[in-house]
Amino acid sequence: MVNLSDLPIRDDLRGLEPYGAPQKPVRIALNVNENSHPIPEAVAQDIVESLAAAILTVNRYPDREFTELRESLARYLNPGLPADKALTADNLWAANGSNEVLQQILQAFGGPGRSVLAFPPTYSMHKILASGTGTRWIAGERDAGYEISPETVTRWIDETTPDLVFLCAPNNPTGTGVSLETIEAAYNATDGIVVVDEAYAEFAGDDEPSAITLLDGRPRLLVSRTMSKAFAFAGARVGYLAADPAVNDALRLVRLPYHLSALTQAAAVAALRHTPEMLAMVDDIRGQRDRLLVELPKLGYSVLPSSANFVLAGGFDDPNATFEALLQRDILVRDIGIEGHLRITAGTKAETTALLDALASLRPAT
Ligand code: PMP
Repeated sequence: MVNLSDLPIRDDLRGLEPYGAPQKPVRIALNVNENSHPIPEAVAQDIVESLAAAILTVNRYPDREFTELRESLARYLNPGLPADKALTADNLWAANGSNEVLQQILQAFGGPGRSVLAFPPTYSMHKILASGTGTRWIAGERDAGYEISPETVTRWIDETTPDLVFLCAPNNPTGTGVSLETIEAAYNATDGIVVVDEAYAEFAGDDEPSAITLLDGRPRLLVSRTMSKAFAFAGARVGYLAADPAVNDALRLVRLPYHLSALTQAAAVAALRHTPEMLAMVDDIRGQRDRLLVELPKLGYSVLPSSANFVLAGGFDDPNATFEALLQRDILVRDIGIEGHLRITAGTKAETTALLDALASLRPAT
């Protein structure tokens, strides 16, 4: 029996843990911040037709530049921007999930001898992608309430001179937003790359503008997004990036040729044709998130304000015991290793009701 440690693996990977969100067949999965609502049947039919057409030419490699997808993504983002700052396909990049986009960014701008500054607690894959690409991880510290002020980000950049800065807005797992002032301060404090991971941007309030509005004139600012969350497309694996066209040239140096399959491209373009239907449940999900923010405190748990589709709840004497007790009731939530806390995705109304009922039965109101 050979163990991993018996293999001649890179020294810097020895002893590390892989990404490990449990995948369990449960009735109510509120653990990985997916959109619980299936995509509408009519949209699914249209996607199937696009896939049927694409499969007829899979003997050929796909469009290596995924041009139609990049055009569709620019069209999706542009309503949020003034006309004179509109993005074109040259500003857009895509890959198999925003995880792959982030990996390509680290391959191009990080790597051995380089460092990335991030602010834990944050999305666990950021650190794993840093170690996979041999990029040194620098853990900054957040202010009270998990905020990051312009002064705090500037101080950390001045003290650590990283090659990249990762900001997650809204932040997973806390739900906290990051102000445009903080992003601008980070950009001004560094000569390196500033990445804003906006996987949950569509769930934020109208008073929380996207970092995409800052792109004009800032070629080192990169904003990653995903179709996995608001767009209900996690299984298709489509993430994307908005940035200066020169950034795409950097990513072309590290991406695998034809990294986006013809089927992925066809499915994503078809889904983006149906943006209003695909995003129809976002308001509903926000409503369930706000319900969690109101109802969890009534059960004696603390919550943080959230701009995302999940809530970080505190006050669990033994989070692992609650995790297991919920699992017994066919409900999966996430123990992200913050003492006394569990992260709960806002699902459908029925799922939220089941979760709240289960928690109430585990811990009667105080
Ligand atoms: N960024 C953040 C903050 C996330 O929470 C996630 C998924 N949990 C991702 C990126 C990756 O998503 P995907 O690869 O599905 O686009």
